Amino acid sequence: MRDEKELQKLYKDCMDFWGFEKQARVVQEECAELIVATSHILRGRKGSYKKMLEEVADVYLMVHQMMIYFGKEQVMDIVDFKSDRVKSRLEKSKEKLNGDQRN
Ligand SMILES: [Mg+2]
Repeated sequence: MRDEKELQKLYKDCMDFWGFEKQARVVQEECAELIVATSHILRGRKGSYKKMLEEVADVYLMVHQMMIYFGKEQVMDIVDFKSDRVKSRLEKSKEKLNGDQRN
């Protein structure tokens, strides 16, 4: 695995070389491929596990390039807000499930 600094340089180099418009189109394509891979793994299609791993990795690489373009700090601020919200929803869902199991 590459180190984080090397990866950050790669993401920036890709954005600098290909530019936002081309990379945004690749984001669209990779997200679509992940949607298809998700559908295939849920249907138990042969070879879908490996394909799913590949598409998760593709989206990971593209998302990180978008973070370079839009600003990593700004994105991470929203990630913090949303992760707090997900944590709260998870806790409420667990409490509800535990309450339902007691009744
Ligand atoms: Mg792909």
